[in-house]
Amino acid sequence: MRRHAELTKLQAVNGTEAERVKRDALGIAGRRKHHTRKATPLRSHTKEAGTHHRVYRFRFYPTIEQAEQLGRTFGACRWVYNEGLALRAEAWEQHRVKVGFAESCRALTGWKRVEDTAWLKDVSSTVLQQALRHVDQAFTRFLNGQTRCPERKKKGRSRESATYVRTGFKWVEDPALPGTGLITLAKQSEPLRIRWSRALPAGVVPIRLSVTRDKAGRYFVAALVEERIAPLAAAFLPDTQEPKAVGLDLGLASLVTLDDGAKLDHPRLLKRYAEKLARLQRELHNKVRGSNNRNKVRQRIARLYTLISDVRKDMLDQFTTRLVRENQVLVVEDLSIVTLPRPAHGKGRRRKARLNEAILDAGWGELLRQLHYKCAWYGRTLVIVDRFFPSTRLCSACRSKRPKIDLSVREWTCSPCGAVHDRDVNAAANLRVEGMRLYGQVTVGLPPGTTAPTVIRASELKEPLPTAC
Ligand SMILES: [Zn+2]
Repeated sequence: MRRHAELTKLQAVNGTEAERVKRDALGIAGRRKHHTRKATPLRSHTKEAGTHHRVYRFRFYPTIEQAEQLGRTFGACRWVYNEGLALRAEAWEQHRVKVGFAESCRALTGWKRVEDTAWLKDVSSTVLQQALRHVDQAFTRFLNGQTRCPERKKKGRSRESATYVRTGFKWVEDPALPGTGLITLAKQSEPLRIRWSRALPAGVVPIRLSVTRDKAGRYFVAALVEERIAPLAAAFLPDTQEPKAVGLDLGLASLVTLDDGAKLDHPRLLKRYAEKLARLQRELHNKVRGSNNRNKVRQRIARLYTLISDVRKDMLDQFTTRLVRENQVLVVEDLSIVTLPRPAHGKGRRRKARLNEAILDAGWGELLRQLHYKCAWYGRTLVIVDRFFPSTRLCSACRSKRPKIDLSVREWTCSPCGAVHDRDVNAAANLRVEGMRLYGQVTVGLPPGTTAPTVIRASELKEPLPTAC
């Protein structure tokens, strides 16, 4: 795929010529049919004031029939996603025509009429449209320069999932146990057998359901709801009106280091899993491709990956909740600064690199994601410091700057002032100071009574970096 910059340089074909190409070459039916029908107003996605979107995830155990139907649904979603992707690529590369979501949906109607793909009719059309919606979102992110070009989904490689919008499922709340109830998916006769590990907020109807099967073969349903979450009382430093702040340094030695010296380590459990994972992957390497034994090992690896991600998610959940409760302002560095080191050399290098990714990389992304939404829920502010801020090179005691230090240096002494620093604690302290400076800059102009924004991103403030002495 060409790079985005090259894509935008090319001139698009528009107007009647584009319509002709779409109709004749791409098989997208005209809009005429819909002209006679009254347009259905789009359901507004704006939230009511004080409410937040929240996702509740539950495990469920499908009957054999349901599992089969879901298998077909996942397959159809994957097929439609790939086809939607291909349609857009073809339209652009061969005809210089842009295809949008609505046109993809009309193309879908055409695919259903073709005999070879008539099985698409067995799957709820709203679910298939959501697959096209995902293509659309992936392209939007790509064209905004946020991600790489979307890729085809491969069977067994990508997570299996299907999204049901409001019309795609039935929800009957249990009056005896509010927040739990019966969920019946489109094209299924029986409700799902859900393990209600907790209740949804009583009285809400899920906006959207996302049904997934992970690589370990477990089924989950994630319900998106709109929930009223009361912000917490502001957290001030004792006897002042100064907001309480914390700096977080994301690292390799510890997952997170706080400026007060507290560290959140990678759980020991994960290390044990990592060893087991490495062993299984070596085993996989020695098995014959396509053999039954190889598949068994792959299943075990997949199960281990899901265990690792579950353990980490739980650990981070408790940690971020505590941080957000105790502090008003949380300061982190821009994630892009955290480039994974590649310590792996020689044999098994790629396997080791993947291991690093599994253990570390996802941990940071998940941490930031959780901080982000929890700050929004509870009325806190997340400050994201610029990636070029030299957090590890400044002395937090005298603010003097030292030359770049190697990752292996865990502790250093500042020569001008003699302070002895733990590398990560010092970085966290610098982040907190810089974060509070930005926070002050943003909040000083706010009229009294207004709350600070949920996220302050240094790279969006458009100001020169402070020059350290
Ligand atoms: Zn110093």
